[in-house]
Amino acid sequence: MPLSPEQATRRQAAVAAVLGRVIVTYMVSVVLATLTILVFVTHLRDGPGRGELVAGTIALLAANVALTVAAVRGRYLLASVGVFLVGTLAVVGYAQAVFLDAQVHLLIIGLLFSTFVFLGPEQDGARLVTGMFGLAAFLYVEFGISPDDVLFPLDPDSVEPAQTFVRLGMAVHVATDVALMQYRFAASRQTLLGVARFAELRATTDEMTGLSNRRPVMDRLTEWFEGGEGGYTVALVDVDQFKAVNDDLGHDCGDALIRDVAETMRRVFRESDLVSRWGGDEFLVLMPGLRREDASEVLERLRREVRGAERACEGRQMVATVSIGAAICVPGQTPDEVITAADKALYRAKESGRDRVVVLEGEAFVDASH
Ligand code: GH3
Ligand code: MG
Repeated sequence: MPLSPEQATRRQAAVAAVLGRVIVTYMVSVVLATLTILVFVTHLRDGPGRGELVAGTIALLAANVALTVAAVRGRYLLASVGVFLVGTLAVVGYAQAVFLDAQVHLLIIGLLFSTFVFLGPEQDGARLVTGMFGLAAFLYVEFGISPDDVLFPLDPDSVEPAQTFVRLGMAVHVATDVALMQYRFAASRQTLLGVARFAELRATTDEMTGLSNRRPVMDRLTEWFEGGEGGYTVALVDVDQFKAVNDDLGHDCGDALIRDVAETMRRVFRESDLVSRWGGDEFLVLMPGLRREDASEVLERLRREVRGAERACEGRQMVATVSIGAAICVPGQTPDEVITAADKALYRAKESGRDRVVVLEGEAFVDASH
């Protein structure tokens, strides 16, 4: 579906809003996880460092609540980078204090992945900083902390369930992030395709009538010429004495008449015909796969419909007729040659009194209207 620049901006804002809601949900779950940790550390046996651990967890809770408020207020960059930095530091702290055996530092990878998705490609600088920081923290826990340094090591029975918990946390992170990434990619792909389609339509459409402009006509004619195809009909349709309409009724009425003729053409021709506004009061139609008699009949019908239509502008009747010149392409004829042939037929139609269809067959003009 074509997307105008405004529609594309709105689509991007909608995607950002979805990601924003995900960030808020994520932050709320982080706060809940911090509360659980707080309950856990307050139940640790007494020993050196426990007071600091409880105080540190309360500080962590406060920081996460503040970041959640930031996310709710739409400050997603601050919330994403903040939760990553605070979360990574917390993981390092808890590895040192309790959870080294549970391989808690695997969560840093999950955090890192989430931050990458939340930030998006437009925040490459922040991604680089968080990436380097996450890697350093991971390596520090992996190689820098000895099991002997851990203040409150887990008892052996708790190690296995704690590891499972960490692995599940990591899996949930990664699965959610992959789904979000997929969503982001699909949304940007759709937006890009929509914008490209819009630009293409703009470049190939006549704004006033909504018909095709010259470009698709020339493209198709060139393609047929290069493929050695022939047998199709090219018709030029020109409003008779159009200047008089402009002079008598005004330019706006002239415009309305052009749009009206365009509408009639849209109705008369088939989907497979290419109807274009060639310029001013002149239209060009490409009709592939029609017998000559059928082409003349369709063009005749157009002529009669334009002539018979009732129109009014500025409270006055607006009668109009069109002259039509057509040529049938023989294989090998260049696009310019066929168009020139149709133009000759149009000239003949004008010369012979207008309001008629003339088809150029070989060297002979055939007046299809009589
Ligand atoms: P003929 O029967 O020989 O075709 O006579 P004509 O008056 O239709 O011929 P001509 O090609 O000399 O006049 C076309 C006029 O159309 C000239 C130009 O000012 C006017 N015109 C071109 N584009 C537009 C447009 O978009 N809107 C309006 N209102 N007029 C246009
Ligand atoms: Mg004209």
